[in-house]
Amino acid sequence: MTQSEQLHMKDKYLAQIPSKIQMQHLSRLAIIYIRQSTLQQVERHNESTKLQYALVEKAYNLGWSREKIVIIDEDLGRSGSNAEGRPGFQKLVAEVSLDRVGMVFGIEISRLARSCRDWYQLLESCALFRTLIGDTDGIYDPGHYNDRLLLGLKGTMSEAELHIIKQRMLSGKKAKARRGELKMNLPVGYIYRPSGEINKDPDQQAQETIALIFKLFEQYRSCNAVLNFMVKNQIQMPYRENGGLRKGEIDWRRPNRTMIHNILTNPTYAGAYSYGRFPVDSRKKQPGQPYSGKTKAKQEDWEVLIKDKFPNYITWEKYERNKKQLAMNSNKMMGVVSRGSSRLSGLLTCSKCHSKLTTRYTSNGKHLRYLCQKHAVNYGDKRCTSLQGAQLESFVEEQVLEALQPSSLQISLKVAENLSQERESLLKHWQLRLERAKYEVERAFRQYNAAEPENRLVARALEQNWEKSLAAEEKLKQEYNQFIAEQPAVMTTEEREAICQLAGDFPTIWNATTTTNQQRQQIIRLLIDKIIINIPGNAEKVDLEIYWVGSHITYGQYIRSLSKIEQISYYPELIEYVKELQSAGKSYTAIAEALNKKGWYSAKYKKPFNQGIVETIISRAGLVTGRKRRAEAANRDKDEWTCSELALKTNVPRKKLHKYVREGKLQSRVDNSVSHGGIILVKADEAELQRIMSISKQSNKHWIEQNRIVIVEENPE
Ligand SMILES: [Zn+2]
Repeated sequence: MTQSEQLHMKDKYLAQIPSKIQMQHLSRLAIIYIRQSTLQQVERHNESTKLQYALVEKAYNLGWSREKIVIIDEDLGRSGSNAEGRPGFQKLVAEVSLDRVGMVFGIEISRLARSCRDWYQLLESCALFRTLIGDTDGIYDPGHYNDRLLLGLKGTMSEAELHIIKQRMLSGKKAKARRGELKMNLPVGYIYRPSGEINKDPDQQAQETIALIFKLFEQYRSCNAVLNFMVKNQIQMPYRENGGLRKGEIDWRRPNRTMIHNILTNPTYAGAYSYGRFPVDSRKKQPGQPYSGKTKAKQEDWEVLIKDKFPNYITWEKYERNKKQLAMNSNKMMGVVSRGSSRLSGLLTCSKCHSKLTTRYTSNGKHLRYLCQKHAVNYGDKRCTSLQGAQLESFVEEQVLEALQPSSLQISLKVAENLSQERESLLKHWQLRLERAKYEVERAFRQYNAAEPENRLVARALEQNWEKSLAAEEKLKQEYNQFIAEQPAVMTTEEREAICQLAGDFPTIWNATTTTNQQRQQIIRLLIDKIIINIPGNAEKVDLEIYWVGSHITYGQYIRSLSKIEQISYYPELIEYVKELQSAGKSYTAIAEALNKKGWYSAKYKKPFNQGIVETIISRAGLVTGRKRRAEAANRDKDEWTCSELALKTNVPRKKLHKYVREGKLQSRVDNSVSHGGIILVKADEAELQRIMSISKQSNKHWIEQNRIVIVEENPE
């Protein structure tokens, strides 16, 4: 077809086009909006997509030139239930609002948007910018009352249709669920047979692992203990792929707490069919996340519960007992010691795994420790950090007090003052620019005013010039207003003085006996956003990054007390030095002095070495000790043991045996024939050995029970 023929065709169509289409529409774009809600629809309803593309021809025939026809098809495969996540629809509305669109085309136009809110937004914009809307049935002008009514009705019908479909699907689903026939995602350990029946997984290993978890819980009564057992014995958890290429296959994974907890609380393992355990609360839904808003319903609120529906791993009674036990465990974790006496809880982050440190109280709430145990709790791994609370808190408090010292505050205030001076000079600069813009406008106006009216061309150029300068001035004014709006608050002299005065009083307030721990916690929270803790090599140095409110960061380091001397960073050097001194024949006291002279400390920070500590170091390092030499030199009767030998034999710590000796619980004597003040010898025949072991077991048990009550973990979230 030649160009003139094309033009002729166009003229022909122009003569036929409906009266609603005018030049003002043809001079703007024609947008073809193409959408199918799911990718399956895109594949299956290929015809419909073709039909939608055919709209391009229709637009052309109605008189739009090819270059003015734009296809928006970004939303293929996206649901129409709302505009979020549909960039194409948003683009369409934007184009209309920019007054660039003459007509919007779509098949069954009301399906452009299935939610009335989006539909009316589009209608409003189209009415405002005189944009037409067209579909296979006809062409509508939203500016006309009748058309508008029709379009509104179409939108409402469309939304109602969607609602009815949804409702029908949901009630069908629920009826099926009530009969226990609705297919669900089976937990691992079960499979659907081709007949639709549910059976235990034929994979013997998977079946046995599930059974083992229930057995272990029966025995240990705690999720963590089950996890620890599995980690220790390298037992992997079966996991069934719910989708993808390997759907339905079993994968073996590292166990974690959540997996075990889910198995213990899933009623399916007790043979029960349930529906509605996790209803979705739309208020908690996050846009763009398909499974969000899931909540946990109480058992009495489940929509369906049919017991004895499939083969079980445990009985229903056992399932209920397990749930009760889990609830009890979590209560125990929560409430024994009053919460919140820790001042930094929730502020500390571990630098290694970026998780928050939790708090733990021991000795009936007397001692506080901060721990990073996310991996320990979730995967039965080793704990990555454990810190004494008191030492850390006092270090952070020092930092806070220092930051609030009048002298430090003076510096901060000075900086603020400099900033405000800088701002003043900027302001001056702005005023000059504004004056200049105003002058330009006045000059352009004078020139325009002075021009001879006969000289139209000149006058037009000058008028344009005047308009330009007016626009430039307006723009500058807006920018200036923005600058003013961003102005930070300026402190008055009185305010500054008041701050310094308060800062001077701060240490008194902080240390006052009437100030509660909770108030101190609040003060710290007002000042500090977060603290990142790093302990290089798990040794004595603790590095802190303190993020103050207002994005200022300071760094600090302190030396912490350790539970074992072996953790200290210079331990290898220390041991070498001790060996050297020992082979030089120095006494323990002399060795302790030499170590102190070096500037070294024992495991407890700033605690100097003494004879006892040196003795412990030597014995723990396995160096030959004086005690051993003396033990060899002792004159013994039958069934006499040194405390060290007895400790090895009975597994009772040497210190405890010494205590028993002091308390007279053991029959003993001191052999003074050896050097260094003699040696204690305990008389113990076979029966006595048994008795010592049994005493120890009893007291150990007592200790464990007490400890279980005392230890309390608190989650900062
Ligand atoms: Zn960590």
